[in-house]
Amino acid sequence: MRTRLADTVLASSSGQRADEILRSCVHCGFCNATCPTYQLLGDELDGPRGRIYLVKDMLESGAPNPVARKHLDRCLTCRACETTCPSGVRFGELAEIGRELLQEQGSGPGWFMRLVLQIVPRPKLFGPLVALARACRWLLPRRLRRGLLPSGAAHRALTRGDAPLPAVPAAKPHASAAMRRALLWQGCAQRVVTPEVNAHLARLLQARGVAVATAAQEGCCGGLALHYGCSEQARAGMRRNVAALAAVDADVVVSTASGCGTTLKDYGRLLAEPQAEAFAAKVRDVSEVLAGFDFSKRAVTGRELARIAWHPPCTLQHGQGLRGEVERMLRGAGYHLVPVADADVCCGSAGAYSLLQPKLADELRQRKVAALARHAPEAVATANIGCQMHLAAGLDVPVVHWLELLA
Ligand code: SF4
Ligand code: SF4
Repeated sequence: MRTRLADTVLASSSGQRADEILRSCVHCGFCNATCPTYQLLGDELDGPRGRIYLVKDMLESGAPNPVARKHLDRCLTCRACETTCPSGVRFGELAEIGRELLQEQGSGPGWFMRLVLQIVPRPKLFGPLVALARACRWLLPRRLRRGLLPSGAAHRALTRGDAPLPAVPAAKPHASAAMRRALLWQGCAQRVVTPEVNAHLARLLQARGVAVATAAQEGCCGGLALHYGCSEQARAGMRRNVAALAAVDADVVVSTASGCGTTLKDYGRLLAEPQAEAFAAKVRDVSEVLAGFDFSKRAVTGRELARIAWHPPCTLQHGQGLRGEVERMLRGAGYHLVPVADADVCCGSAGAYSLLQPKLADELRQRKVAALARHAPEAVATANIGCQMHLAAGLDVPVVHWLELLA
């Protein structure tokens, strides 16, 4: 693609990067075929190729563009287009630059999103709100009620059997030399809504000889703010995290929420500082960490699940490029994974997308729920808290983090 970006734009590193990305696009349009919003709306401007042209136009003209704002707002940043693109166009980075520009031009997120950005990353604010909503669960519409995980005793009994998980010693001799100490990333929403996921991971790792730590200084990974063009807010939090956590003695930083993991792995690029690069190099998704362990001897009780529908979050499959490992582990642990059509398509959760674009998010959820429920699974497993809550609101079976299925 030919570009004519203004000299002032090319003077900045993000302008140069945008130019590189734009030039790598050959406008073939293959990406449109896998774009969820293009599939729903059929409008070229709601597909990746159209959005690339809109960002190019903004960078060339330098003028605020409400049309670009509308169609970038509708983009889920699922990055399915990156997986499809034969030319390796980094659409996610380009969308990030486009949203940053909109923010600079005074066309950033509205008051509601700014409020969300103040609440969700602060567990001390978000936690009491979730607790209040759960206490008033009976007052809420059925969907919202189901989205407020966990679904209580039934959920726990279904996923763990009758027996409580045993307490295990903190060190056993078979941890690999490359991973003796792990720092567990707690996440903002996950630590409030499903803290049991990380507690379960801690037990799994400790049972395998890995010492586990958490850091009280941990803040939000910055993914949510970055997603909405608030890059200053995002980068300030990232720098605080790197400064606070770089000192923690750990071989790996493990994230059980694939959304956080995708952002944390990108700290090197986002901050362009050696300390951030060193931190990012240690980040692993939990599936990468557990892949080296054997879960095939899982004791089967009558209460445990057998038929599972697996929903791979976009942040896992497109953001981190991790495909197939969770399925392999779950099958190895004795579960039957039912076929799920269009597994590469976003469920509509996408950070705060379901709050800001409820109609589109709901249509995507309906399609996803139909695909997941088609072969009558006993539960749906996923790897990100946002997908888990969003899907739980539309499904009649429990929606769990896949990790909870490993005993
Ligand atoms: S598939 Fe890649 S090269 Fe083709 S239009 Fe989409 S982004 Fe551009
Ligand atoms: S990130 Fe997802 S929604 Fe956005 S253009 Fe790419 S495929 Fe479409």
